Amino acid sequence: MAGLYVHFPFCAAKCSYCDFYARVRKDWKPYVEALLREISDNDVLVPATLYFGGGTPSLLPAGELARVAEAAQTAFGVQAFDEFTVEVNPDDVTPEKAAAWRAMGATRISMGVQSFDDNHLRWMRRRHTAAQAEEAFGTLRQAGFGNLSLDLIFGFTGLDDADWMQSLDRALALRPEHISCYQMTGRWADPDEARCRRQYAQLQQRLAAAGYRQYEISNFALPGHESRHNSAYWTRAPYLGIGAGAHSFDGDRTRRWNTPDIDAYVATRPGGMETLSDREVYEEKLMLALRTVRGLTLSTLTQAERAMLAQKEPVLEQLSKTGKLMVTADSVRIPAGELFVSDGIIRSLFPD
Ligand code: SF4
Repeated sequence: MAGLYVHFPFCAAKCSYCDFYARVRKDWKPYVEALLREISDNDVLVPATLYFGGGTPSLLPAGELARVAEAAQTAFGVQAFDEFTVEVNPDDVTPEKAAAWRAMGATRISMGVQSFDDNHLRWMRRRHTAAQAEEAFGTLRQAGFGNLSLDLIFGFTGLDDADWMQSLDRALALRPEHISCYQMTGRWADPDEARCRRQYAQLQQRLAAAGYRQYEISNFALPGHESRHNSAYWTRAPYLGIGAGAHSFDGDRTRRWNTPDIDAYVATRPGGMETLSDREVYEEKLMLALRTVRGLTLSTLTQAERAMLAQKEPVLEQLSKTGKLMVTADSVRIPAGELFVSDGIIRSLFPD
């Protein structure tokens, strides 16, 4: 299932912890024109899903977003996308914008809340309070969105287990269909590994008890509300990325990308391309599939890839003996309790 991603690299202010390429500027008019040009240059794939990410797409006037959505529908001959997500920040959500997002065909909203503790929101330099996030959620519901996702962050300096449970409880009280939780990285990351692991376990237990199913390291959904767009990335389905810094993948071994520089993107859209080697394709398959709860289905491997996996038989045996891997005749997966340390497990399966 192919996906179409459109990147909006604008933010009203920079959050203290953010490493994304996002710029505090408002000259989005020429940027939107450049997006429209790039969309009209591409019509080779028929995307099932559309994702407006950033940055902060919700910062743009809804009419500009609607122009991009309409151009995508026209260029790719799609009447309505199976799933059309817009990333928003709570401080941008108004009844007017929410209604306009619905009218342009958005089916799903992913809202960056990060925490329901005002002290944490302040040092993160978020531009909203916890109460504003709750109000924005209500506004989105009132506009008719039946598929809402919230983003939260754990594992940062100053977050204790009780704070984390409180944030989780306030998120759950809203009953979103989907929750994504990311561990803080970089200079704000909590160096106490045991506490981070504990918070991750709390997250898994609390959400499971509330009826959410984990389907990937960072993603949880009520049944039937897993993100179709993001799930396609983990199966290495093709996708087209439009906009500054956006990446595209042909579903096999070719990746292309645009420069992240907004001005260069608008002027001439320089970019790059790479062709993955057999080994890189294999490592990517492992890396992506083993992040998911379903794991790696062996029938998705070529014969040569199966041979590479077979060379790791002693490691597989050891990991499965210690409960870090579940190996069956047709799949390999990391059990939920070990997903927190999945990176190390996956790397130990890479070819020598
Ligand atoms: S709004 Fe999102 S993309 Fe923008 S600076 Fe904050 S975390 Fe980064």
